[in-house]
Amino acid sequence: MTFAATANAIVYTGAEPVFVDADETGNMNPDLLAEAFDALEREGRQVKLVLPVDLLGKVVNHARIDAIAADHGVPVLSDAAESLGATLDGRASASFGVAAAVSFNGNKIMTTSGGGALLTDDVDVAKRVRYFATQARRRAVHYEHTEVGYNYRMSNLLAALGRAQLARLPEMIERRRQLRLH
Ligand SMILES: *Cc1c(COP(=O)(O)O)cnc(C)c1O
Repeated sequence: MTFAATANAIVYTGAEPVFVDADETGNMNPDLLAEAFDALEREGRQVKLVLPVDLLGKVVNHARIDAIAADHGVPVLSDAAESLGATLDGRASASFGVAAAVSFNGNKIMTTSGGGALLTDDVDVAKRVRYFATQARRRAVHYEHTEVGYNYRMSNLLAALGRAQLARLPEMIERRRQLRLH
């Protein structure tokens, strides 16, 4: 269960999304993920990535999902668009797997009016993502491009708005919690 953007991101790359059904939390069911791996491997299909979604602020079962993916030698990338500020066993959402995407769209936990961020603690992934997000421009004084890139950078004005929002994030999450309780 997710918003269409999760599947779109997969299709953009030329890959085919294979959906794994949810458990009672609404998030990816780890048992069904294991079954999907077995079925796809039987068909001789290559799995490149597992992309679980933290639906409505609930962080997925990373202990199991990440272990199943690791057993198959496949990285995990989280769609944490809806879970910024949430934690699982004291660990922040978007801190699991190789990287996680958060959204700053107008309907999210915090906003820059549009855009988002990719979070990772892998320096090589960060460099590669910045490269593709800035038109795949190579390091050269002239304009040199050898791969297809994207213009996915956030403008500095919107980033300034985001930094101010980030400072208020705990306050905004608390307000949401209060609204949820009443
Ligand atoms: C909002 C949302 C997105 C898309 O975020 P954008 O910033 O609009 O690209 C992706 N996945 C989920 C689960 C979302 O809720």
